[in-house]
Amino acid sequence: MSKRTTEDHRALDVRKLHRAGALAAGRSCGWEWSRRGEVVASIGIEAESLECLRLRYQLTRQGKTEAKDYRVPITWTPCHLGGNRPWFLCPCCGRRVAKLYSSTLFACRHCLRLNYRSQQANKRDRPCDRSWDLRRALGCDEGFLSLPAEYITKPKGMHWRTFERKVEQLRRVDARALGAAQAMLGTIERKVNTARAALARC
Ligand SMILES: [Zn+2]
Repeated sequence: MSKRTTEDHRALDVRKLHRAGALAAGRSCGWEWSRRGEVVASIGIEAESLECLRLRYQLTRQGKTEAKDYRVPITWTPCHLGGNRPWFLCPCCGRRVAKLYSSTLFACRHCLRLNYRSQQANKRDRPCDRSWDLRRALGCDEGFLSLPAEYITKPKGMHWRTFERKVEQLRRVDARALGAAQAMLGTIERKVNTARAALARC
């Protein structure tokens, strides 16, 4: 089974965005990825404030196109040599990271399990980790953010009934994992709104 690496996904690098001026409050721009000189993907980026980036794009999967529109918080830390450097807060887990990778949502490498395995046994009961364990048992190396359970193919030698039971179980776990990711996005949205309201008052 080949392991997915960060190179398989389109990355958004917060330092590159900063250098390009895309993080300046009020700035709207398009961000493109190209391969051999041809644009293969693009998204719309709007810096609503220094602390909040809004991403808009179309996601096409299995022939279906979906419009995505959500916010990613930005945080700044002082540099040794002066000035501040930006970080994304992952919209799925809230981790502070320099890069986000494309999937159903842009998320950090930890959330997409890119070349990474969680060592923290005490967190195994989290739905996203449970989902990952079930997927591995089915020979699947993609997470719930990139591949829905019903698209997983049956491993050779596994009985259909066993396979269907496992997929059904995974579907329930994935729903909880997605719910947790959405709750995280909701929390971020509320924090952004509270911060904006506080700014408007002063
Ligand atoms: Zn994350």
